Amino acid sequence: MFEALTQRRYLIPFKAARLAQQFTDVLVIGGGVAGLRAAIAAAHEGAEVLLLTKDTIDESNTWYAQGGIAAVLQPMDSLESHVADTVAGGAGLCDRAAVETVVREGPQRVLELLDWGANFDKDAAKPHGLAFTREGGHSFARILHAYGDATGRELAQTLIRTVRGRESIRVVERAFAIDLLTDGDAPAGVASSAAQRCVGALALVNGHVNVIWSKRTILASGGAGQLFRETTNPKIATADGHAMAYRAGAALQDMEMVQFHPTTLYVAGASRALITEAVRGEGAYLVDRNGYRFMKDYHEMAELAPRDVVSRAIVEQIRKTHFTHVYLDVRHLPTAQFRERFPQLARLVDQFEIDVAEDLIPIHPAAHYMIGGVDTDLTGRTSLAGLYAVGEASCTGLHGANRLGSNSLLEGLTYGARAGADAARGAKENHVRFPLNLDHRVPPSEKTELDVADVKSSLRSVMWRNVGIERSGERLDETREIIAFWSRYVMDKVFDPGALGAGVTAGWELQNMLTVCALITTAAYTRTESRGAHHRTDYPARDDAHWRLHLLWRRPMETPIPEPIE
Ligand SMILES: Cc1cc2nc3c(=O)[nH]c(=O)nc-3n(C[C@H](O)[C@H](O)[C@H](O)COP(=O)(O)OP(=O)(O)OC[C@H]3O[C@@H](n4cnc5c(N)ncnc54)[C@H](O)[C@@H]3O)c2cc1C
Repeated sequence: MFEALTQRRYLIPFKAARLAQQFTDVLVIGGGVAGLRAAIAAAHEGAEVLLLTKDTIDESNTWYAQGGIAAVLQPMDSLESHVADTVAGGAGLCDRAAVETVVREGPQRVLELLDWGANFDKDAAKPHGLAFTREGGHSFARILHAYGDATGRELAQTLIRTVRGRESIRVVERAFAIDLLTDGDAPAGVASSAAQRCVGALALVNGHVNVIWSKRTILASGGAGQLFRETTNPKIATADGHAMAYRAGAALQDMEMVQFHPTTLYVAGASRALITEAVRGEGAYLVDRNGYRFMKDYHEMAELAPRDVVSRAIVEQIRKTHFTHVYLDVRHLPTAQFRERFPQLARLVDQFEIDVAEDLIPIHPAAHYMIGGVDTDLTGRTSLAGLYAVGEASCTGLHGANRLGSNSLLEGLTYGARAGADAARGAKENHVRFPLNLDHRVPPSEKTELDVADVKSSLRSVMWRNVGIERSGERLDETREIIAFWSRYVMDKVFDPGALGAGVTAGWELQNMLTVCALITTAAYTRTESRGAHHRTDYPARDDAHWRLHLLWRRPMETPIPEPIE
């Protein structure tokens, strides 16, 4: 069904010897929390690091993170409690070792940020002089935040400053990584990661395709929100890393698990700006068009129930009330305090003349976080030798089938630091002699011209409608057919930078999006149960007897294989 996707090894034809060449010890693809932290760790171990970002470095999911970062830093809190909350949220799919690693090492990674100048919000009465708040699924107020609701920006700025201060890290912005290079010469369709290793990447730098030879490569390319019409993610989140890793033969896991955020601003024409969970943590209510506070009907934790529960409850309440959205009610909270605690949100609602003291804030769920990703071990190593994955591009097993708010920044820091250090050490033992004599041909397409923007927008709509918060076998199967059909005439194209100039990246993004949509949809179709973020209306119950397992992918598989939980 998906031959067009599974047979494609590289997106472009190339002869390595004819392209501009770059050499580095460690290549980091992505400049969000995970990539930046990995680069710092690799440089600390003595490696020369090249870090690429697709847009400018301030355009990442990290930059937009609001609510905060979870860390056990208070004597009344405990590592056991953070582990227990994370595992409970993960609905049976968490990897316990990954959870314990992040919870144990995370606090150190956070305190390090303070040393590097991060300005988290303060409370002199609290340990470390820091202010903490609570978020859904956390049984303790352990969430640090900065400038109220601009935690991601502060974290990113701190890490960027630190990276810029390291001479051995070179940052190249607006450099689009197209594909991971592997040394094996496996023909299309028989990619076998056992015999191959990752030796770098092809990337578009200053309008030219470059070969970047690297002794170790760290994929830190972030999430996949743009696969769905409604999303909190910025434009860069087109799952390029997931698709590159699949084409290169690395294993991916839990691709059906996509987290939808319950509360994004719902104003026609405006982007789906996220309204942080911390607003509910501070006491906001969810009410329907009749002013009814409905969350108590769905979960004992009401507004602070896990995200998947809140998202589905909102969808159900929208259905019940025959309306397009529900509301966040903050009218009972002291206005000045609210504006001080959530300055970004206050500015946002001001733009739409919503007075939080008197008006309700219209909200709707949207795609938010890609839980599935490139399967890694505890150091971020993937199944493909020489390749690491960190942050949202990876699947470490921390989040299981559902992510707790504020755990992903912590994961990015922890695994970024681990992978960066390990990659730098590995680079010292590298035995591959660069440059390699690689070349690859792609037969020219005989099919018609393509309206990339139109296919992209149709794909995002169908994914939102059929592979979103509520899924059914029938709709998923229909979506698979649609993706397979589009793939046949999108995947045979070669988007040529020479002919297309800057527009070429939109074509590559579409090819990546189709690839990852096929994986998500097929995995969701295969998992005939409901668990965590994955909800099947035709299989509404969790089925531990058959489905307490991961679904694992590796090219050229068309359907995932079950992987038992250790
Ligand atoms: C609105 C919003 C609010 C959030 N709030 C929180 C929160 O409060 N707490 C929390 O823990 N998490 C939060 N999250 C989730 C969290 O921000 C992300 O999971 C995390 O920042 C991901 O970090 P990352 O380094 O993996 O990826 P990103 O930060 O997304 O960085 C990805 C990088 O990869 C680069 N890239 C992508 N493709 C390519 C390519 N082809 N070539 C070259 N470079 C490429 C991009 O340019 C970018 O530099 C939020 C997310 C959003 C969108």
